[in-house]
Amino acid sequence: MALRLFNTMSSRIEDFHPLRDREVRMYACGPTVYDYGHIGNFRTFVAVDLLRRVFRQSGYTVRHVMNITDVDDKIIRNAARDGVSLQQYTAKYEQAFLEDAAMIGIEEPTLVRATGHIAEMADFVAKLVEKGIAYRTDDGSYYFRIAKFPQYGKLSKKDFSGMLDGARVDADEYEKDSARDFALWKAPKPGEASWDTPIGPGRPGWHLECSVMSMEELGESFDLHAGGEDLIFPHHENEIAQSESLTGKPFAHFWFHARFLLVEGEKMSKSLGNFFTLRDLVLKGHKPSSIRYLLTSVPYRNQLNFTFDGLRQAAVSVERLRNFRSRLTAGNFLPGASAEMQSLAVQTVERMKSALDDDLNTAQAQAAIFEMVRQANAAFDTGGIKKDDVPPLLAALAKFDEIFAVLDDDDGPKMKRVFDWAQAEGRDQDISDELRAAIQAGQLSDADIEAKITAMKAARAARDFKASDAIRAELADAGILVEITKDGIRWRRK
Ligand code: AMP
Ligand code: ZN
Repeated sequence: MALRLFNTMSSRIEDFHPLRDREVRMYACGPTVYDYGHIGNFRTFVAVDLLRRVFRQSGYTVRHVMNITDVDDKIIRNAARDGVSLQQYTAKYEQAFLEDAAMIGIEEPTLVRATGHIAEMADFVAKLVEKGIAYRTDDGSYYFRIAKFPQYGKLSKKDFSGMLDGARVDADEYEKDSARDFALWKAPKPGEASWDTPIGPGRPGWHLECSVMSMEELGESFDLHAGGEDLIFPHHENEIAQSESLTGKPFAHFWFHARFLLVEGEKMSKSLGNFFTLRDLVLKGHKPSSIRYLLTSVPYRNQLNFTFDGLRQAAVSVERLRNFRSRLTAGNFLPGASAEMQSLAVQTVERMKSALDDDLNTAQAQAAIFEMVRQANAAFDTGGIKKDDVPPLLAALAKFDEIFAVLDDDDGPKMKRVFDWAQAEGRDQDISDELRAAIQAGQLSDADIEAKITAMKAARAARDFKASDAIRAELADAGILVEITKDGIRWRRK
């Protein structure tokens, strides 16, 4: 079966075929870097990362571009409040976003920054003016005349037939249902950052940024455009209007929107005290892998109700998968193969693929791997797994992890980085006892530990038992139990 995805434009699940053979060109709206990213943002970014990984597993090469919005109303306001330049203000949050994205297993897309493409944006506006689609107002701002784009509303399915021609809005974000000519380019207000360009001084509107940068990186028509559901209107509607009226060609073929995340059943908000950044959760002692697992456990088009119970269950799930893999890699098996285990592994891979092909049904893909783990664990206890069953079972786990990316344990070092950051920011009081304990227990990643075990083996082979014991003691201090058996050296976390 081919990959099928819901397309917001057609409101249907469609077979996915890229416009060019075997290559997917996708653009995802990235963060506005005015603060630390919250778990709602990461719900969307993780959903896009998962989509990219599914494309790759389906045999496509993927060109994934994401913008960093480093100039907008909020950024200008906050930078002015703190008395720093835009660049100084956004650099810190851009860096934090990149660190957080890596922490939660997001593969880095090609990043494009709004402030790096101002000239192209001004040029885009000039071309729209030439075509009679954009107009300049007395203060030197430019607006898009939506009456010139009769298909306006085709993505959000809003009917704007009764709207007022010429009514304008210049905010980057505005109320749903208010169809207005929107700002493409904003004239500078006193004290605001602006750029001198052939269309006059000013700065781009948010919607323009994405049209210009996506087409520059991916071409006038490309395969897929992604973001959270709140971007459907006005942001993506406006991107379509700008781009298609300039090129006369369809802009993005598929529109992919992740449904919002709620916290304990409510909309996340600072005033309700249920607003969490990724770092907040790690400060409470939760592992990045548990957070990623939880964010992927609900298919992207369903509302994700984030709860702390759910997060604890996610941690247990990840642990169960990791333990199962360790059991397979460290166990001693009788020679031969069991037909039952062989077919279990094959069927699991097929079930995962058909679940993901079905508009990324992540919940079913996870259910498939857990069913395999349950049956294989039962077989373990009765000697039902043979030596030749291990590779296919491990291969099924690896296929799962190409998408979900939680099996390799590097939580310890990642949590340590958040701990160091909190200390550097003078936020000691936010560091929980759970985080302190987790750091003590797991600073070493699997790869670090393997490297030390290799060194231990080499020391033992050279009969340097003192060196071997020293490494073993160091690992014990880091919470790693090392067992030396006649079959070799095994380790596990305490
Ligand atoms: P922003 O930095 O506000 O531009 O948002 C970055 C991304 O996060 C966008 O794709 C938003 O649609 C998405 N987003 C914001 N809040 C949530 C939420 N509660 N749940 C899911 N996605 C969200
Ligand atoms: Zn965008």
